[in-house]
Amino acid sequence: MQKESCIFCKIARKEVPGHIVFENEQVLAFLDLSQVTKGHTLVIPKQHADNLYDLSPEQAQDVFATIPQISRALQQETEAAGMNLLSNTGKVAGQSVSHFHLHLIPRHDKQDGFG
Ligand code: 5GP
Ligand code: ZN
Repeated sequence: MQKESCIFCKIARKEVPGHIVFENEQVLAFLDLSQVTKGHTLVIPKQHADNLYDLSPEQAQDVFATIPQISRALQQETEAAGMNLLSNTGKVAGQSVSHFHLHLIPRHDKQDGFG
C-alpha cells in the first residue's frame, strides 16, 4: 500500500521528481536532496513501510538484494574509496522521513563531510 501524503511514495509514483539511479518492480533508488557526500543515495521499497519495524521480510529481501549492484555502480561513478550503508528508525535516531529507506553514502576521504 502507498500513502497519499508520503513524499517518498510520491517519488515512487513519479508525482514528484527524483533523480532516479536504479529501479525495479519493488525498489527505487534516487539521489538524496541533501547529498552529504557526492552520490548520496536513498534506496526504498516502492510500497510504503514506516520504518524498520514496519518492513516485511519480503520488502527487506527486495531492498537488500539491490544493494550490491547499486553500491558498485555508485562506487564506479563517484570513484569512492568506501561506502556507508545506514538506516535511521525513530526521530531520536535521526529519522526525518517516515518511509523506510537505506542511505548509501559514498566516502571519498575522512574529511568528506560525513561521519
Ligand atoms: P532520514 O533523516 O529520515 O534518515 O533521511 C531522510 C533523507 O531524505 C534526508 O537525507 C533528506 O535529505 C532526504 N529527503 C527529504 N525529502 C526529500 C525529497 O523530497 N527528495 C529527495 N531526493 N530526498 C529527500
Ligand atoms: Zn511512503
